[in-house]
Amino acid sequence: NPPKPVSTPQSGSRRASPAAKGSTTSAPKVLADNSTKDTETLDSDNSVEDDEDKLIASMRGVDPVSARQILNEIVVHGDEVHWDDIAGLDAAKNSLKETVVYPFLRPDLFSGLREPARGMLLFGPPGTGKTMLARAVATESKSTFFSISASSLTSKYLGESEKLVRALFQLAKRLAPSIIFVDEIDSLLGSRNNEGENESSRRIKNEFLVQWSDLTKAAAGRDQGEDLQRVLVLAATNLPWTIDEAARRRFVRRQYIPLPEYDTRKAQLQRLLSHQNHTLTDKNLEELIQLTDSFSGSDITALAKDAAMGPLRELGDKLLLTSKNEIRPVCLQDFINSLNYIRPSVSKEGLRQFEEWAKLYGSSG
Ligand code: ADP
Repeated sequence: NPPKPVSTPQSGSRRASPAAKGSTTSAPKVLADNSTKDTETLDSDNSVEDDEDKLIASMRGVDPVSARQILNEIVVHGDEVHWDDIAGLDAAKNSLKETVVYPFLRPDLFSGLREPARGMLLFGPPGTGKTMLARAVATESKSTFFSISASSLTSKYLGESEKLVRALFQLAKRLAPSIIFVDEIDSLLGSRNNEGENESSRRIKNEFLVQWSDLTKAAAGRDQGEDLQRVLVLAATNLPWTIDEAARRRFVRRQYIPLPEYDTRKAQLQRLLSHQNHTLTDKNLEELIQLTDSFSGSDITALAKDAAMGPLRELGDKLLLTSKNEIRPVCLQDFINSLNYIRPSVSKEGLRQFEEWAKLYGSSG
């Protein structure tokens, strides 16, 4: 049997690799040429691994165990997200297109003054689509997507973290164009006087900053080919105010991802309902959009999932004996019932804190 796919919470199935398939330039090919379709065989699985082994063996100065770990657990394949999957957030999408997607797809146009940024920060309340945006950027820019939660560097990978960070950046250069997505960046680049900061997390943070700077220098020197220009650190945080000042300045763009506004909630609710048999009229939908003011994208998803359970819930055990077409459609009342216990996860006070930080440090647009 093929080895079991290793996956992190954020990674999809590792062997089903449409992401790699979609990738264009040099290194993704290493992974892509053997990408398999639905029926995976031992042979094809092994040859992906062979190619990866060759890749690792060819990288001098990179710890092979860390490199393997990155290819297994941090490079994300599959589960592609496209712009259209994300409701609203047009300002963020446009900013990401200009900062990452266009420069990655047309490096010839983005040099000199148009040199692309090396770092972009997405900040805002939890559940507003930051991770989805990062994944869409990787898909749309046909990049290799490295996804790591910063807190895992200081917990799961602790002890290996410096080697891992070095290998991460080396592989990202090698497999460029690459997006290094770091979720919860605050836990890596939190301000130095954080009580929790101990010697080892300080070392990991320094290593990360050094590797990140090298990327900028190498790109400026153009000494290793243009693909070096196409490695970007894209980070997300729900706690932007805890990032220390020096680190903050390295994110040339800091994009606020706010709670969804009316039109965004509408688009998301419509999308969620489109997969469901329901009786909501336009007027009902309107009411629901009003009722979900101050809900995040993930709160809305949770609400819709809960409401969709309404028709099943009322059947109790009879559910087991009821045929699918006898189940009644979801109605507005199901949503209203669910609103009793699915509440917005961000408080007004919490929101104000984000808005103030956005005013002070966010990129406009
Ligand atoms: P964040 O990274 O900001 O915490 P995520 O991107 O992980 O949030 O979003 C969590 C979930 O919420 C998604 O999987 C999706 O179901 C839903 N969601 C959030 N924002 C949106 C959006 N703009 N459009 C569609 N779904 C969204």
